[in-house]
Amino acid sequence: MQERTTLTAPCSHNFGRYEVTCFCDGVFQAPIGALIHIDGETARQSVIAEWGNPNIQLDVNFYALRDTNGITLVDTGGGPSLGPSFGLARIAMRDAGILPEDVSHVLLTHIHDDHVFGLFDGSLPYFANAEVLVPETDMAFFLDPAAREATPEARRGGFSVAERLQETYGTRIQKCPEGHVLPGIEARRLPGHTPGHTGYLLHGNDDTLFIWGDVLHLGALQSRDPNIGMIYDLSPVVAATTRQTALEHAARGGWAVAGGHIGFGRVHCMEDGYRISEL
Ligand SMILES: [Zn+2]
Repeated sequence: MQERTTLTAPCSHNFGRYEVTCFCDGVFQAPIGALIHIDGETARQSVIAEWGNPNIQLDVNFYALRDTNGITLVDTGGGPSLGPSFGLARIAMRDAGILPEDVSHVLLTHIHDDHVFGLFDGSLPYFANAEVLVPETDMAFFLDPAAREATPEARRGGFSVAERLQETYGTRIQKCPEGHVLPGIEARRLPGHTPGHTGYLLHGNDDTLFIWGDVLHLGALQSRDPNIGMIYDLSPVVAATTRQTALEHAARGGWAVAGGHIGFGRVHCMEDGYRISEL
């Protein structure tokens, strides 16, 4: 089985007051060993055998929401800070008429480098006028020395990301609570991938979009079997429950969905799990 691997051009849809554009900032390559399965090693090995490829390639996406008030971003990609193959969306945004100084708000789904590093221009803020709304549970967790100690060393990336975020944006960081955050946008907690992992629901009259961050990384695989995870989920069992619930809500509500590693889609309830079709 293969997921999408090519860098895709920006693509836009309208939801309520917003025109929403998906920007792909680069492609991240993970080893197949990064797959996990809640049901154990036998289940994991059968998923790996079915995948049939030593690597998994993941688009690194973020979203620009444009209305009459300006530009809000949901996440920011990895930017050049993540490596030379990232930061591609900066040119694409300029081509779409979005300058860094036009961005008034950034809503983060969680504190991981491939969602946050796009905020940085070396040690300076890339978005000179932006307020950054960060899920408050993630900010508290990733700035807590005791939580850092209790987290396996290989999973500690978010802690240094949070420090850098605070150093660079300082008082322009706001805690993002659950519920209404900006006009037509509701924050919903989706814990598991990180403790404060959050999705943003854009309410429209005709269609609703749920930008759900890293609820899943592999659209086809994890919608069919939500118990498939990746090692990047800090609490795999909680993440699997959240994934199942988010898929169920999106399917029942008829919502469009969009994620950090999948583009726009729509969730359908099937006899064996769910399926996500392209929008
Ligand atoms: Zn993540």
